[in-house]
Amino acid sequence: MSDVTIFEKILAGEIPCDKVYEDEYTFAFRDIAAQAPTHILVIPKKKIVNIASSTDEDHEYLGKVLRAARIIAEQEGISEKGYRLVFNNNRHGGQTVDYLHCHLIGGRPLGWPPG
Ligand code: 5GP
Repeated sequence: MSDVTIFEKILAGEIPCDKVYEDEYTFAFRDIAAQAPTHILVIPKKKIVNIASSTDEDHEYLGKVLRAARIIAEQEGISEKGYRLVFNNNRHGGQTVDYLHCHLIGGRPLGWPPG
């Protein structure tokens, strides 16, 4: 899990992305394989692998990721109708990129439970 991930390359500007938001703590861009009209990934600017491996010292970054998701949802105009925030953790959780990311998904009704 110590390999350089695609999201670190995106954050470094080495790989292009459709950026939608950035602040001191976070960066956000559209998912390359969108599952809904709005599908954005919010990442911390500090390398954290996932929630499962995060520490108490990461709490500020984790809070800022959620704050960014709220702001972006407002920008996207989906706050009132609703949206979903997902953090996949490790393989059973469906995590494929080992750099913490919050999926912000909305713009259509979403089913429950997820697969
Ligand atoms: P995970 O399955 O790890 O929770 O989600 C990883 C997400 O990253 C997937 O939804 C996938 O489509 C997205 N993704 C993977 N590679 C890239 C990329 O190079 N650019 C962008 N924008 N999204 C990516």
